[in-house]
Amino acid sequence: MKHQFPVTLNTNPKAKPSPVGLPFGTYFTDHMFIMDYNQEEGWHNGRIVPYAPIQLDPAAIVLHYGQEMFEGLKAYKTPEDRVQLFRPYMNAKRTNNTNDRLCIPQIDEELYVDAIKALVEVDQEWIPEGEGTALYIRPFIFGDEPYLGVRQSMTYKFMVILSPVGPYFVNGLQPTKMYVEDVYVRAVKGGTGEAKCGGNYAAALKAQEIAHEKGYEQILWLDGIEQKYIEEIGAANAFFVIGDEVVTSELNGSILPGITRNSIIALCKEKGYKVSERKISIDELVDAYHAGQLKEMFASGTAAIVSPVGQLEYKGEKMVINNFEIGPVAKEMYDTIYGIQTGKIEDFMNWTVPVASEDEE
Ligand SMILES: *Cc1c(COP(=O)(O)O)cnc(C)c1O
Repeated sequence: MKHQFPVTLNTNPKAKPSPVGLPFGTYFTDHMFIMDYNQEEGWHNGRIVPYAPIQLDPAAIVLHYGQEMFEGLKAYKTPEDRVQLFRPYMNAKRTNNTNDRLCIPQIDEELYVDAIKALVEVDQEWIPEGEGTALYIRPFIFGDEPYLGVRQSMTYKFMVILSPVGPYFVNGLQPTKMYVEDVYVRAVKGGTGEAKCGGNYAAALKAQEIAHEKGYEQILWLDGIEQKYIEEIGAANAFFVIGDEVVTSELNGSILPGITRNSIIALCKEKGYKVSERKISIDELVDAYHAGQLKEMFASGTAAIVSPVGQLEYKGEKMVINNFEIGPVAKEMYDTIYGIQTGKIEDFMNWTVPVASEDEE
């Protein structure tokens, strides 16, 4: 690693949770990474310290105007006990794209990945073992300058925290029910839809709450202008198998460019599937369903990798997809990606990055 960080070890380590039935994002490890930014020094003072609450001035810009971004990726332990990350440079690059949109200063991508590696190395005992488990990594940046004027913060914090997680869905790859949202919208072109920021989530809570009340786990968002074209799902991208074509919405400025999405497209190409990134309207989807051509639907994202959708409701019509079972494409994508991530399948796509570099092992 090019960058080294001072480590203050936690003298009061916590008991690790049982890997069985581990919920998502509830337990946190013994340490965290924190780094400061100011205009004179740029990003500086990166350090690993015991996990603890942080002090924030009540006037901190993030608390008033939401200048914040986040990322999500995972660390895994291979059968040979090698600790590895999945495509972390894509998260670093996406961070800088988000930062650009939110007027947060750029961060050196090597420094970013080294911070993650250093923290994971310190807390590697926290990587849970068991099918479907991983150590979830949450990097985030926020403006912490105390100031109530509306402009970007002059100071920032970059932090990384870690959370051991079980399979996203406790019942395995159980298909979910999804509601096509036709009142609220998530994002429009020119807005912040393609940036990974907390504000997008705050704006989506209301629709999610209503969908939950109706008995749906997730929302399928339509475009924010005509409410005609499919965009994405809550915190994931959307894939469909229509006839023999694997389809996902093209990146149009309001869709989050998922790393899992990118990986599935690449894998589908590698495996010889016909895969398209294009506009897909909700009417086309409903027609394909009636013609018996909507074979599969699934969500893609770091948390679950792939999550099959068993039922879709649009304007009162409930469409049951693939008999409420996981389809072959979703299953193959999940098995291959999770297999590569955990080192159980050879990394023929060259996607994993070891946490300890060769000369340090
Ligand atoms: C993070 C996220 C995704 C999925 O991205 P991955 O890199 O695959 O985890 C999709 N949509 C939204 C809105 C997201 O925030």
